[in-house]
Amino acid sequence: MLTLFCENAGVVRILYFIKTAIMIMQFVIPIGLIITIAIDLYKNLIMGITDDRYSVVKKISTKIFAAILIFLIPTIINLLFKILASTNAVSNYYSDNFVTCYNEASIELANRLQQAEDLKLEQEEEEERKQTLIEAEVYRAKLKALQESNLKNQNSDGTYNPNLTDLNKQNGVYVQNGVFYKPKGASGKNCPSNPTKQGYRNKYGYNDHFFDMLINLQKAAKEAGYTFTYSTHGCRSYNDQVATAKKYANEPGRAAKPGNSNHGWGVAADLDFGSSKAEKWVHDHAKEYGLHFPLYGKNYKGYQEPWHIEPINLKTY
Ligand SMILES: [Zn+2]
Repeated sequence: MLTLFCENAGVVRILYFIKTAIMIMQFVIPIGLIITIAIDLYKNLIMGITDDRYSVVKKISTKIFAAILIFLIPTIINLLFKILASTNAVSNYYSDNFVTCYNEASIELANRLQQAEDLKLEQEEEEERKQTLIEAEVYRAKLKALQESNLKNQNSDGTYNPNLTDLNKQNGVYVQNGVFYKPKGASGKNCPSNPTKQGYRNKYGYNDHFFDMLINLQKAAKEAGYTFTYSTHGCRSYNDQVATAKKYANEPGRAAKPGNSNHGWGVAADLDFGSSKAEKWVHDHAKEYGLHFPLYGKNYKGYQEPWHIEPINLKTY
């Protein structure tokens, strides 16, 4: 029966070393004692050094007794366990298990257990890796479905038909095959005043396709244990852009030139991260959701704006 103590390679290895050490001591110490006894006898009997006879007998008999005692240590320990078990001081189950494991402990058993432990760990890692791949597959499928939903506004030759009435064109921006096309000219002139009433699926005035991507990223972040929020002004009007530029006049690169901000097209968001770890995760994974943190405002304190997110595929038509 190999249970409890013998399930762990480390425990078996330690027991094996203790057992080996005891076995070596069991022979080495009595042999050493026998040698000193022989020297005592030699000195007293052969060389005739006149020690007190009584003390010689006492010395030798003590050493013989010690030699026998040490040789019997394992038997004594075994007996002790049996006595402890019989008095219920240690339950039978534990003492039997320990004695069995102690007797069975060998380097082969330790190696076998180690192999089993390594294999289990390897299998767990493999399982985790598979799970990650499955999750990545699910996200890719979601993104593909999103891109396919953007195809519905196409002409039969694949070109965009802006006259088809659907949600695909919002605030002048249309989306085709996952590419966002914004018109030339100043942004923020046609921000929706009441997005929901004007056919938007989100109440903030973000481009619905961009908002879907943002929500997908937010869901994925949440599943990974991270949070962020987005600004509730989905579309920044031209007047607001003028005000923002004025506010950050002393920080060049912090705000876009009025009319140039992608906030005015509803295809940019400023994020507020729950933690620096969340910020890192979102920066590392945004591209899997078709989003990125562009290098606008690189002059601002020498960095890009780490909170400003947009679609990767954003063109002008
Ligand atoms: Zn921004």
